[in-house]
Formats: sequence, C-alpha cells, structure tokens
Amino acid sequence: MNPNAPRTSLLDRLDKGPVICAEGYVFELERRGYLQAGAFVPEVVLEHPEVVTQLHRDFVHAGSDVVEALTYYAHREKLRIIGREKDLEPINRKALEIAKQVAMESGALLAGDICNTNVFDAADAASQKTVRAMFEEQVGWAADAGVDYIVGETFSWAQEALIALDVIKRAKKTAVITLAMHQADVTRENWSVGDACKRLVDAGADVVGLNCIRGPATMMPLLEQIRANVKTHMAALPVPFRTHEQEPTFQSLRDTHWHYEEGSRPFPVALDPFACNRFEIAQFGRDAMALDIRYLGVCCGAGPHHIRALAEAVGKHPPASRYSPDMSKHAFLGSHERIKKVQKDYANKL
Ligand SMILES: [Zn+2]
Repeated sequence: MNPNAPRTSLLDRLDKGPVICAEGYVFELERRGYLQAGAFVPEVVLEHPEVVTQLHRDFVHAGSDVVEALTYYAHREKLRIIGREKDLEPINRKALEIAKQVAMESGALLAGDICNTNVFDAADAASQKTVRAMFEEQVGWAADAGVDYIVGETFSWAQEALIALDVIKRAKKTAVITLAMHQADVTRENWSVGDACKRLVDAGADVVGLNCIRGPATMMPLLEQIRANVKTHMAALPVPFRTHEQEPTFQSLRDTHWHYEEGSRPFPVALDPFACNRFEIAQFGRDAMALDIRYLGVCCGAGPHHIRALAEAVGKHPPASRYSPDMSKHAFLGSHERIKKVQKDYANKL
C-alpha cells in the first residue's frame, strides 16, 4: 500500500476485489504477554501503547488492508468488571489514535470497532437501552477520530447487532456487521444466519457475515447459507482452529491428550494443538472467494503468517511476501544447484 495514494472507501475497494482485515488482537497480545486472558480487556492500549502500534504494523506488513482500532471489549460493562470505568474514554481515544497513526503512515483503512456488550437480554427492554447507550459512546469516539468505517462484531444476538447497526448508521458511517455463531447454527433468538443477515442488510448494513468462534471448516456451511440470502458484500473471519462437526466452536474443542486442573477445555490459552496452518487459511480464502466473499480476515489466534497466506491466496502481494518461503534453498530439502548431492541424498533421513 502507498500512503500517498488517494484514499478510497471500503466499499469502493470491495467492488474491485478482496479486502483483508486482521483481527484477533487480544489473543495475540495475550500470547505476547501484554494482556490478561479472562477479562480480555485491552488495557495494553494505555499501559504499552508501543506494543499495540507494532502489532498493527506487523499485520499491515503481513497483508492487512485495515487497521482496526483495539476497542474490542473496551466498553463500559467490561471496564466496570475490571474496576477501570474511569478509563473508558481514555482507552477508546488512545486505541483510535494508535490505529490512526498506523493507518495514516501505511495507507490502510482505519476502522472503529464495537462488539457484544454481554448485557443484552431479548426479554428486557431496559437492557436494550443500556446497550444502545454503550454503543453510542464508543461510536461517537470512533467518529471523532475520523474512521473510514465501523465494525460491529461477535454478536450472537442478532437483535443486539441490529442496535449496533442503527447506532453506526445514525453516525453516518459505513457498517460491517459480523455475527458470532456458537454451537447452534441459529442466533440466540433462534434466527437462521441467512435470515439474521438478511434483516441486517434490510436495515442498512453495508457488509454482513461472520467472525470469531468457528474455524474455517464449521464456518463455511453457514457462509453458504448467508450467501444464498444476501447479495451485498459479505465478511468471513474465522478463528484459525480445526473445529469440526462434533466440536464446531473453539470453546467446544476438547483435548484428549492433555488435561489441567480446570478440565480438558483448551479454550482460551491451550488451543495450540488445534491451530490451522497457513495453508488451511489460504484454502479458506480461496473457498470464500468462490462464494464471492471479499471481506476476509482471521480472528482470535491469528498470527501474521496466517494473514500473509490469506492475502497471497486471494492474489495480493504484501510487503511480507518478500520473505515468503523458498525451500529451494534449504540445506537438505532444496533443489538449488549449490546444494550438494550428499545433502540431498540425506534428506529422507531428516
Ligand atoms: Zn475472535
């Protein structure tokens, strides 16, 4: 990307081809030792802003066309739980400032981000007013920062997603709304994903789809259902884990080889043995493109190598492609003329 090139909108970019959006920042920062699993609140934005800046740069280098501000779970309810409600506005404004800096220096799009509030209750109208107020404050700060668009993500109640969408559209921003589907293949109010996404499109969503919770294998059948119901641009950002029919979500995966005191649920910090390799993510990218799903990314668990593989799979050549593997130069497995026969002959014994 060229920072001096004229900035084009998300929708213009999607009309021309795929757009890659890296996500899963809280998981990656937890892995790096700067964020606590459990609450998963991005306090790192205030405590180690330089780490967040570098993470954004790493993902843009790897192929992300978007810098999404790290405001996931930086909402009033979560900050209350960790006793830092007074830091609500500073954490949001700082996350947006960090993301904007990297977007401006790289030419990437700048996205605001809101997510599930964990207080929505379909049977409680008062809770819905609370949810709306939480979204309004976060969307207001994102709009102040001049974001190109706003992501509303990981909603398992489609009605909560509809409130998020309404708040984003009232702020006159482009809205990317992604639902998070747990073990049931319906939303928590029992809407099919196809129906839920159709309602979101009818209510003005610019891009609809799924993110988080499910790996490529168990997200794809739901994406097909959505594609059959909507004609707008679609989004798909799975977690990079080998979920399957019996254990369709990363919370439902069980590790039969290893147990710890809290049981055999490897979510969230012992999922390593289930990780998708980069080739599986590349294949997901090609499969999604075959459904004309152009807003693509990887959520919790994503590393820059996944993002580069995804970007390359859909025809992009990010800066990190300079270092994509070339095994022809390997000491034993290589084909280069300078690799001695005695080395090549030994390759099968490695
Ligand atoms: Zn996620």
